[in-house]
Amino acid sequence: MSKFTVQTLFRPEVLALSAYHVADAQGFIKLDAMENPYTWSNELKQGWLEKLKNCSLNRYPDPEALELTNTLKSLNKIPDGIELLLGNGSDEIIQLLLMALPQNSHVLSTTPSFVMYKQISDYLGLNYHGISLRADLELNVPAMLSAIEQHNPAIIFLAYPNNPTGNLFDKNAINQIIDTANGLVIIDEAYEPFANSSFMNHVKNNVLVMRTFSKLGLAGLRLGYIAGECDIIEQLHKIRLPYNINVLTQASVQFALEHKDVFDEQTSAICAERILMLLALNLLDGITAFESAANFILFKTPDNQATKIFEAIKAQGVLIKNVHPQGGLLANCLRVTVGTPDENLMFLKALKYALDLT
Ligand SMILES: *Cc1c(COP(=O)(O)O)cnc(C)c1O
Repeated sequence: MSKFTVQTLFRPEVLALSAYHVADAQGFIKLDAMENPYTWSNELKQGWLEKLKNCSLNRYPDPEALELTNTLKSLNKIPDGIELLLGNGSDEIIQLLLMALPQNSHVLSTTPSFVMYKQISDYLGLNYHGISLRADLELNVPAMLSAIEQHNPAIIFLAYPNNPTGNLFDKNAINQIIDTANGLVIIDEAYEPFANSSFMNHVKNNVLVMRTFSKLGLAGLRLGYIAGECDIIEQLHKIRLPYNINVLTQASVQFALEHKDVFDEQTSAICAERILMLLALNLLDGITAFESAANFILFKTPDNQATKIFEAIKAQGVLIKNVHPQGGLLANCLRVTVGTPDENLMFLKALKYALDLT
């Protein structure tokens, strides 16, 4: 009997996939992944370690993460009838949502948008459609509505604010999509801490709101959650792995939420820097930066220079994200995470030098 070949063993969708590439950031000023640059005071770390001491590593974690779920419900004023599902990052929740769909289902989002919507749809063999945004980065409502009519998507993902554009889509446009959709509309609020606008109060029927702690400052813990009507969330709970939120994550996020003021302070600092960075970017010849409601800024560079500028910035020790290869509205664009004031100055200096080289 011949041994298997990888080519015949796995589904064609899996074989066709290119792995999600994460750049090696060692030694760089890291402004590529929308992380919070601030850490905790020693005092806070001591309190956290005390809490971790009481975690039983030999026992399975609470499968329902009940304490944390209740804390999240009360912080978000989740009304009766609405339930939460916690995930190992919101990436896992995107995967759970898509895994629950029938074969041949259609999934709709925007182009550009968060890459995992398409990536996971593709490897699950679902039909993904990305509808291009308008040149002003707003939703193209007629195109979205006609795609809904044509494909009847089981799920529509809208990132609010959108990644990698940073803007909040017009609320009326989103509501039109919600009203027209027969399937679920997932409002992905990964950047809610920086946005000042949310659909959490509109979770009902086909509308679900998804959040994560990653961009707020706990990317290493991997915790996301989604709020939706009980009967929808109940189905997702059936297909998640029984202990998907580990004991250290449960305890650490609970602890962090008891010190929410620390994160509020860090978030304010990032939002203040965002304003300065936007101003500084738009003062540079050849650069156009887009308004952002998130902790990153998308900016346009002179034609055919994006990759060269990205590399020149990297050569100076600052890692940002080159989104130019994605094409379309992202042609000539780079994306930078808002860091500490020092990091942002280093980045701006590196960008200026890179522009002088072109
Ligand atoms: C970063 C990001 C996520 C994923 O966050 P994790 O919780 O770290 O998995 C989801 N959606 C958007 C729009 C993001 O930018």
